[in-house]
Amino acid sequence: MSNLVMVIEDEEAICLLLSYNLEKEGFQVATVSNGINAVSEVERLLPSVIILDWMLPEISGVEICKLIRSKPDIKNIPIIMLTAKSQEEDKIKGLSAGADDYVTKPFSVPELIARVKTNLRRAPLFEEKEKILTFEDISMDLVERKVKRGDNYLHLSPTEFRLLKMLIKEPGKVFSREVLLKSVWGENIYVESRTVDVHIRRLRKVLNQYGPDYIRTVRANGYAIDKNAPADNDENND
Ligand code: CA
Repeated sequence: MSNLVMVIEDEEAICLLLSYNLEKEGFQVATVSNGINAVSEVERLLPSVIILDWMLPEISGVEICKLIRSKPDIKNIPIIMLTAKSQEEDKIKGLSAGADDYVTKPFSVPELIARVKTNLRRAPLFEEKEKILTFEDISMDLVERKVKRGDNYLHLSPTEFRLLKMLIKEPGKVFSREVLLKSVWGENIYVESRTVDVHIRRLRKVLNQYGPDYIRTVRANGYAIDKNAPADNDENND
């Protein structure tokens, strides 16, 4: 696996700051300064992690994120969204577009680098020994990284894929938000527990297109995958 980080950002000062600090940490860095070339550059260079600015000329970061997630060859590359927007609504928009992580400007360089490392660490899903995980009519191919419900292929972001994998590995077990954060996002990262809820909501939306809701919300506790998820799940109808 390469250690190439791609920074898609039009502000030169931020590109320089990130390149300098990432290179100091031993990463290779490629920078792209506009939205038009971004996706073709990702396809050409196949970075291991993408840092993507929300505010770009011509095409927004959210649009680029969606484009990357729609292309089979690059859709699994972790994306860290970088933005000046701190509104909850925008954060949800970014995560819903398929971003794995979210850093608000002004950001701390060590924090961002820690997130790059976490995203790199969890990227190689192909090292899995088990190939297929199933729960009822849901199946996950860990090698090909495909998820099906019945005969329908589902599109999940890398983060949602990892969340579902955690839940499906131990059906019925309740995972606290804290445990999910640690396993899915990494130990040394500060992520609000609300972020888990956002990803669970999106995971549900995708899964429930083709069948009943098997994700159980355990109030004040966390989440489980469970065939008998009660019908009055709080977030079923989100
Ligand atoms: Ca910008």
